[in-house]
Amino acid sequence: MFRRSKKIRDSLTKTRRSFFGQIVGLLSGGEITEETWEDLEALLVQADVGVQTTMTIVDNLRAQVARGKVRNADQLQDLLKKELLALLGDPPPMQIDEPRLLTVVLIVGVNGSGKTTTIAKLAKYYKERGRKVLLCAADTFRAAAIDQLKIWGERVGVPVIAHQPGADPGAVVYDSIRASQSRKADLLIIDTAGRLHTKYNLMEELRKVHGVASKRVHQAPHETLLVLDATTGQNALSQARYFKEAVDVTGVVVAKLDGTAKGGVVFAIAQELGLPVRFIGTGEGVDDLTEFDAEAFVEGLFD
Ligand code: GDP
Repeated sequence: MFRRSKKIRDSLTKTRRSFFGQIVGLLSGGEITEETWEDLEALLVQADVGVQTTMTIVDNLRAQVARGKVRNADQLQDLLKKELLALLGDPPPMQIDEPRLLTVVLIVGVNGSGKTTTIAKLAKYYKERGRKVLLCAADTFRAAAIDQLKIWGERVGVPVIAHQPGADPGAVVYDSIRASQSRKADLLIIDTAGRLHTKYNLMEELRKVHGVASKRVHQAPHETLLVLDATTGQNALSQARYFKEAVDVTGVVVAKLDGTAKGGVVFAIAQELGLPVRFIGTGEGVDDLTEFDAEAFVEGLFD
């Protein structure tokens, strides 16, 4: 648990040194004035918390101050932490961790978001926890995507089921399920296509892949994780809305949190999309992944 908190804290260094550092400065003492509210609002928006979410936070805080709960700006800091924590909610346990013969996890997200790296990190993470993991290269459009996944598979010592570039994604998913069953793997992680072209129907493809999985394995996919690049800020939110329309996204992996000063986007994801953040990417290495922990995250912003 301590290691997780440290990783989360470290990945928030840029965010803490910029906007949240300024928030701490703003809320370090003195009276609460109209300017305090304006500055707080501006800083939250700049940290990518999102306009709508920022309004909710500030309105809730104002109401508490109006009720005479606090008078000084430094007391406001604790209330803000509580508000932020509340935004992240208390999501149910992940389906990946439920015991069953074979758990199927679909990974979706646009190219470049960090999808392949995240899959490798997840494979290693669960392998180390005693799971028998198999990867499926269902982004058959890009030869490079298949190759990349194979390279990562080798690095983390997890087999990859792949077909030739251009093959039917449904067919490779079908094969990977059979392979999982015959090799007695208990966790199958499927990479999917992620190009947002106008002429190409990504939704159709994702639905097909989803359909093959659900036909072959009871209640599969048990988890559909959307990988979002934290450095793309509000763009990540519009991507998420797009993917939510295509498939039943059950959670988010926020990649590249270490690379942004706008880590506030995690609150916008939780609040405006209503999706639980399950993992965060904390660097380029294969161990740079950690399960999300709301308390450690909020603490890491202010420390
Ligand atoms: P894909 O196209 O979505 O599969 O993206 P990749 O997995 O190939 O990642 C794109 C780039 O993002 C690569 O240079 C990765 O090293 C980098 N990347 C992925 N996750 C992280 C992360 O958590 N932190 C940092 N700093 N870089 C990351």
